[in-house]
Amino acid sequence: MTIKSATSRPSYPQVVLQRGRDKNIRARHPWVFSGAIASVKGEPALGETVEVRSEHGDLLGMGAWSPQSQIQVRLWAVGRATIDRAFFAEKIQAALQQRQSLGISARNTAYRVLNAESDSLPGVVVDKFGDWLIMQALTAGAEHWKHVIAELLMEQLACKGVYERSDVEIRKKEGLSTTTGLLLGEMPPAFIDILEEGRHYRVDVLNGHKTGFYLDQRDNRTAVEHYAQGRTVLNCFSYTGGFSIAALKGGAIKAINIDASQPALDLAAQAAQLNGFNPEQMDNIQGDVFQLLRQYRDEGRQFDLIILDPPKFAENKSQIEKAARGYKDINLLGFRLLKPNGLLFTFSCSGLMDSNLFQKIVADAAVDAGCDAQIIRKLDQASDHPTRLAFPEGYYLKGLICQK
Ligand code: SAH
Repeated sequence: MTIKSATSRPSYPQVVLQRGRDKNIRARHPWVFSGAIASVKGEPALGETVEVRSEHGDLLGMGAWSPQSQIQVRLWAVGRATIDRAFFAEKIQAALQQRQSLGISARNTAYRVLNAESDSLPGVVVDKFGDWLIMQALTAGAEHWKHVIAELLMEQLACKGVYERSDVEIRKKEGLSTTTGLLLGEMPPAFIDILEEGRHYRVDVLNGHKTGFYLDQRDNRTAVEHYAQGRTVLNCFSYTGGFSIAALKGGAIKAINIDASQPALDLAAQAAQLNGFNPEQMDNIQGDVFQLLRQYRDEGRQFDLIILDPPKFAENKSQIEKAARGYKDINLLGFRLLKPNGLLFTFSCSGLMDSNLFQKIVADAAVDAGCDAQIIRKLDQASDHPTRLAFPEGYYLKGLICQK
């Protein structure tokens, strides 16, 4: 008779790597590509936990199985771990403590609670907006555990509900369909008002972009606030006016938002009211930035501070060249429309566009615009969107403040 020890570990299917393909994981990179896998022992289901072993059978880590993706395993843990409720409780607690230690949760009613791989939870993105949490489950592993994670979040953060916004195409690569809906607790209201470093914003968590608001630009909005005094501001790709509210709070004379989305601009106008600004200080123009910048150039209009925060121009490597042309085009126009000593805040949120290439494109644009501008500061994503050192792919948002 065999007596099973009470402490026996759950047994997991095993993914065995090709010879020499253990290096990345030993360097704590959390992805295992299909080409690195020699064999799979057992029949793991989509999102189920597997052990990752070297060719010699060394246990390298525990991860989530995603057979349809090119990244077939995403690691939850390096080395041996039991992947269960207690495991996720610990990761969530660590992430919350980090936000607290940086003062982010004290100064903001909205912040990123879980930033996927960089918080050791691949595919799990959670943003807090007031009393609600908005979650994106981007991968098979995140999908498998999302209800447990939602319960733990409700326990650890006194909030009213967790709503899912997994309406993202990237899920299709994981064999998952897109989905939205309430995961736990009460349904969020249509709009949630948030406070960010003293600035008020209105967020559409149900239908807005991503989880509703670009929290990653928080520190850069604060930078705009710092430099805005007495300036006229043109905020291109404004979405709900994030940068313009910061500019007006910093003493800008006037801010003009341009965006393709009328609902986003309506929220910008409401945010101006929430902050007590005179409505005449903000113009909201629905249109195409590429066209309007040309029109303003032809009309000879000039501004003291211009923000260029376009959507991702490159979704994959084959689009980088086209993206580069897009960045060059708007930055050239941006420099032309700047007054002498004016400031250009220019951003790229394409992870595939590296910082050096982006800087080179902006430099070329300045040359073509006939100006000898300087970089006065470099910007990146806010500190609640950290980048794990072992996971450089987590770094995507970069910006330059250039002065003409
Ligand atoms: N700066 C914003 C985020 C910008 S996201 C913030 O800090 O909140 C990119 C925005 O560009 C989206 O709101 C989208 O509606 C808009 N957009 C995309 N292409 C556009 C175009 N060609 N012209 C104008 N707006 C565009």
